[in-house]
Amino acid sequence: MLDNETKQNLIPYLKLIDEPITFSVSLDHSEASEKMAAFTQEIADMSPKILLEEKNLSRTPSFEINRQKESGICFAGVPLGHEFASFLLAMLQVSGRPPKISDSLLNQIERIDKDLHFETYVSLTCHNCPDVVQALNILSVINPKISHTMIEGSAYQQEVEAKKIMAVPTVFLNGEEFGSGRMTLEQIVEKIVGTSPDTETLNTEELYDVLVIGGGPAASSAAIYAARKGIRTGLVADAIGGQVVETLGIENMIGTPYTEGPQLMKQVEEHLRTYPVDIMTNQRAVSLKRKENRIELGLASGVSLRSKTAIIATGAHWRPIHVPGEKEFKNKGIAYCPHCDGPLFKDKEIAVIGGGNSGVEAAIDLAGLAKHVYVLEFLPELKADQILQEKLATLTNVTVITNAETNEISGDTQVTGLSYIDRSTGLAHELTVSGVFILIGLLPNTDWLDGTLALNERKEIITDRYGATDMEGVYAAGDCTDSAYKQIIVSMGSGATAALGAFDYLIRKQS
Ligand SMILES: Cc1cc2nc3c(=O)[nH]c(=O)nc-3n(C[C@H](O)[C@H](O)[C@H](O)COP(=O)(O)OP(=O)(O)OC[C@H]3O[C@@H](n4cnc5c(N)ncnc54)[C@H](O)[C@@H]3O)c2cc1C
Repeated sequence: MLDNETKQNLIPYLKLIDEPITFSVSLDHSEASEKMAAFTQEIADMSPKILLEEKNLSRTPSFEINRQKESGICFAGVPLGHEFASFLLAMLQVSGRPPKISDSLLNQIERIDKDLHFETYVSLTCHNCPDVVQALNILSVINPKISHTMIEGSAYQQEVEAKKIMAVPTVFLNGEEFGSGRMTLEQIVEKIVGTSPDTETLNTEELYDVLVIGGGPAASSAAIYAARKGIRTGLVADAIGGQVVETLGIENMIGTPYTEGPQLMKQVEEHLRTYPVDIMTNQRAVSLKRKENRIELGLASGVSLRSKTAIIATGAHWRPIHVPGEKEFKNKGIAYCPHCDGPLFKDKEIAVIGGGNSGVEAAIDLAGLAKHVYVLEFLPELKADQILQEKLATLTNVTVITNAETNEISGDTQVTGLSYIDRSTGLAHELTVSGVFILIGLLPNTDWLDGTLALNERKEIITDRYGATDMEGVYAAGDCTDSAYKQIIVSMGSGATAALGAFDYLIRKQS
């Protein structure tokens, strides 16, 4: 079942297993059980520290990873694809290797005193799912009252349909929907206990030299450049990663011919953590003001931080289309991530709104799975690069509709259709679809700065060539600014510029 390369890559991990562990496997005579039996057997054959036993579990096929007593971690479906890393980490953590998390977070998880059973529906091609699966597995390993089952959607299609799951990851807690989409461990803990583990440890007394706001490539680059100048650097982000973690294939990181978003941002985070940067995650900036020669940053948690300078690198988010049905059917047929949610629309009719690069790339990707894909473009022509349009034109299950103004997404408990006006004729049309991917561009994350800094008509922060904004001591970088191009390498470059600009300001103008 595993190819030779995967097996070779596995060897060093298997050597890290501390105490013996057991795969407790629930099987029947189905083909899916055969696959799971082969997978668990093959791994167990590679290490004397892995034992196998048969056990009746609530889902068949599935398997638990246990050590002496039950760990609470169960995989319903073979954890290959993006979930293979979750499986490896679970093995090591159950064997006794502690997860790498802060002491405050560990204490908060240990103190949870209620029985919590999580179930996460995933697809193996979803690159956001492993973060959630791994976070919930960590909860299970640390706290015996918590358990977690990863459920691979295609192996449990009936459950997926019965629960009307239209987006992954979707998490259930004790049978009730808990959340959907990318969530960090800190965010999950905050949702369970009501307070952020990190807020307790925020250093509100500190006066930073530079406070970076954001957790994407621009912010990470700015923080690294600042810390390398030996100045007191803090970084505040709701999560580390940014848009890059939504990106599967990246081929324009110069010097790295191919990488994937989650992998790149993992490396960036590791790089960031080698410097003395005060990293404050799970924190959302809500206000910024200049007061007595200092910058005061207000956080949603109610706490304020002080700094001599600030660098804003809060990036951008998908632009909503603002039509009836958009909010109601989010994650109920409306999706923004083709890599994650595409498999849930296998053999279904779907629409992609947006004929730019993102929309056309998504349509090409989804055409491999869906029965039919309609691409709706507002303008008379698609705007995507020619090479993408040519590829799209070769696909027989794609229909391009130009001049289409979507005016409603309809449904009952989930999406069933979409209506649009043909702008060239004024006539109304309807499409019967069970999924709508909205990919009509991005909006800068600058709402929280309205009235504070000079923004252009697109709500982007106006900066000069040093990354300086119109507020003294405040710099900005990346997709939240008026930079002409929005790319990873451009964001990283502008993060560096803003950090050097802030440093210059500190040595010339600040006491
Ligand atoms: C689907 C897709 C594919 C792409 N593919 C490529 C590609 O192949 N190559 C390429 O070069 N570029 C690509 N891009 C563009 C690239 O991802 C962006 O240009 C880049 O991520 C911008 O980095 P950033 O740091 O400015 O912002 P972001 O990546 O958006 O990061 C912003 C960060 O700020 C945090 N944040 C936001 N608001 C707040 C707040 N109020 N308080 C605290 N934190 C906050 C966010 O959580 C996030 O961590 C792609 C983009 C998308 C959406």
